[in-house]
Amino acid sequence: MIAGLIDNYEAVKDAEVMMKPVHEPVGKCPACGADVIEKNKGFMCSNRDCKFALWKDNHFMDALSKKMTKQIAVTLLKDGRCNLKKCRSVKTGKTYDTTLVLSTEDNGRANFSLDFSQKG
Ligand SMILES: [Zn+2]
Repeated sequence: MIAGLIDNYEAVKDAEVMMKPVHEPVGKCPACGADVIEKNKGFMCSNRDCKFALWKDNHFMDALSKKMTKQIAVTLLKDGRCNLKKCRSVKTGKTYDTTLVLSTEDNGRANFSLDFSQKG
């Protein structure tokens, strides 16, 4: 009886491990090359020594009335830039398309800039 309970318990534990959502990397860190993993607050480098993160709560994106979505993060990590359609300026209320460009500082911190030279 006791042995049976333990067997069941082990089986459940194994199932939980298997059911646990795997944090699939969204891309490679542009600063150090490690996997970037989606967390609650953003897309973070899996390398603890690296400061790289694309925060979901992001003032730069707020100013464009945009959110850092997984799709944007994937594109930024792959191409270093991402076209953003229908950004809305918080200041002027105007709507425009632009390209978000990702760069990194020496310590791995992410920097954003906008490139208006490419249309579409
Ligand atoms: Zn990194």
